Parts: sequence; C-alpha cells; structure tokens
Amino acid sequence: MDCIFCKIAAGEIPSKKVYEDDLVLAFHDIQPAAPTHILVIPKAHLSGCGDITSENSAVVAHIFEVIAKITAELGLADYRVVTNKGESAGQSVFHLHFHILGGKTLKGMC
Ligand code: 5GP
Ligand code: ZN
Repeated sequence: MDCIFCKIAAGEIPSKKVYEDDLVLAFHDIQPAAPTHILVIPKAHLSGCGDITSENSAVVAHIFEVIAKITAELGLADYRVVTNKGESAGQSVFHLHFHILGGKTLKGMC
C-alpha cells in the first residue's frame, strides 16, 4: 500500500520522532500549524477514525495515554487534539493520525 505514514512507521521515510513503541509512533508535523505540532499514529494502518472498531480500538486508548505522557514530558499543559476524517474535513493523509497542537493560544474550531 502506498501510504506515507506506513512508510514513516516502518522507518522508510525519516521523521523527527518524539515517541515510539511497538504500537504507535509520534513525530513532528512537517508543516507545523502551531509552535508544537506533533502527529500520533498507530503503526498498523487504519485509513481514519471511521475504521475504528471494537476489534482495534485499544490502540486509540493507547494513543491517548501516549498523548498524555509526551505532552507532560514536554511541559505542554494546554493543547488541542484533532483528527480529521475525510477530505472535506481536512484529511490529507489517509492513515489514522491525531494532531497535538499547542504552544500558542488556539482560536476557533473550524
Ligand atoms: P491531515 O491533513 O490528514 O489531518 O494531516 C496530515 C498532516 O501530515 C499534515 O499536517 C501534514 O503537514 C503532515 N504531513 C504530510 N506529509 C508528511 C511527512 O512526510 N512527514 C511529516 N512529518 N508530516 C507530514
Ligand atoms: Zn498507512
């Protein structure tokens, strides 16, 4: 499958890693929209949050544990977590990912 985030998860495309374990990877967004802009992905491909089922949802809970851990380590008290589902909602990479945005006052939702 030609998926850029699968390639990043496999180490075939370099990324600025923040955290990694067997299930997930966190890395800096290549085009940061805020002073802190980190993406957290499951290593196993899911095209977006519409693919989450009772069979695979444990990784999503794990991702939120990782988000709490890495933001605490960075001393980032306030931040926003976003996932876009579908092109018209702003999704451009069709591998599930959660944006962590922080380091400035975040305004609005859309
Ligand atoms: P989406 O628009 O799908 O919600 O978010 C995709 C994000 O991935 C964008 O913020 C974009 O800047 C980021 N991105 C796309 N390609 C790469 C890449 O090759 N490396 C990194 N680190 N981020 C990427
Ligand atoms: Zn993928």
